[in-house]
Amino acid sequence: MNLLLIRLIIFAVLFFAGLKLYRMYREWKLDREGPQQEGDQGNRMVRCSWCQVHLPEEDALRERGDWFCSGDHRDKYLAERKEEQKEEKKEEQKEENKQERDD
Ligand SMILES: [Zn+2]
Repeated sequence: MNLLLIRLIIFAVLFFAGLKLYRMYREWKLDREGPQQEGDQGNRMVRCSWCQVHLPEEDALRERGDWFCSGDHRDKYLAERKEEQKEEKKEEQKEENKQERDD
């Protein structure tokens, strides 16, 4: 009976010691990373890819790695980028045609 009690106490002590160590480790880690993350906590500012205005990350919309202040600007930006890609494709095709003629 005594042995069981001793085992129980040892187990409890180990458990709390581990918990305390874990908490200390977490605090130490937060202390170390704290200064670097100061800007990331709370309201990080991002820039709208369309109108270049800065706004808090939580109010911004994200689309394929770009930030936008509103759905309207996101749509405009994506529409323009699609057109750019189309034009690039057209130019590529022109280049290909030229090369074909040269041969
Ligand atoms: Zn905008």
